[in-house]
Amino acid sequence: MLYIIHMDKIFYEILNKLNLLSSNNFLIVLIACVLTTCTLADIITVHGFHTSSPEIMHNYSFEIRRQTFITTVLLATLFFTITLLLVRHIEQLRKELSEQVKFDTLTGVLSREAFLNEVKNNETSCETNAFLLIDADFFKRINDTHGHQVGDKALVIITNALKEGIRSSDYIGRIGGEEFGAYLKDTDKERTLEIAERLRLNVKQANTIFGYPDIDLSVSIGAVVYEQNIQLPNLMKKADELLYKAKENGRNRVEHLFLNQALNN
Ligand code: GH3
Ligand code: MG
Ligand code: MG
Repeated sequence: MLYIIHMDKIFYEILNKLNLLSSNNFLIVLIACVLTTCTLADIITVHGFHTSSPEIMHNYSFEIRRQTFITTVLLATLFFTITLLLVRHIEQLRKELSEQVKFDTLTGVLSREAFLNEVKNNETSCETNAFLLIDADFFKRINDTHGHQVGDKALVIITNALKEGIRSSDYIGRIGGEEFGAYLKDTDKERTLEIAERLRLNVKQANTIFGYPDIDLSVSIGAVVYEQNIQLPNLMKKADELLYKAKENGRNRVEHLFLNQALNN
């Protein structure tokens, strides 16, 4: 199976490199190939008849050529149409696969890569943005006391609580494990703190939906409000430091920082 996927990829890449994925180019190549095949088939057939039965060739030359031509056109067209359909199918599969990779399967939010790409691609569009690193507190306890399935349920509940707390222009992604990221576009320090606090409270309130009285769902948040042109690795490093500080200071809290070019080292 893996081997087939690999071959598909190679085949697709070759066609892509040759720029044959556009219908126009493919049609030109198809016509060229059909004509070349016809010519070759004609030469081979005529040569064959000439050497084995020169009399038949002499009497039925036109009819032989005509039939060879029609058969070759039909076969070559069939072959290239199948190839075209196959390529289209592979293209569709690749699109569907990359869509699936874009979202985290458990929580439905953006996957790590897709989320960080959003942060990177939007880096220069607004004056100040915010990057939040959000980590579930004492999450291991949930798995240890109630099992992995309940842990998964808790992750979904936390995700929903986070999603409800952001604005429609913001993004939530699963960075990994029980750690999430929020990207708040076009925001300032006050608005960021307001949203971060709302996220924290939403998770606390989600305990009633979760329904395990011995578990207290909460998150710690490291929030970086940053100016344009701050690079993603720096942003993540600062957010991680703030998250660590939030854990150190007792968890279920937000630590924040305003990061401008002067502090960006
Ligand atoms: P802290 O407050 O310091 O963050 O403590 P913690 O227990 O949350 O942190 P720790 O890193 O010790 O444990 C994280 C746990 O999250 C361990 C891991 O098994 C669990 N986890 C990570 N991903 C998943 C997942 O997809 N499903 C479930 N059920 N558990 C997960
Ligand atoms: Mg944790
Ligand atoms: Mg963690």
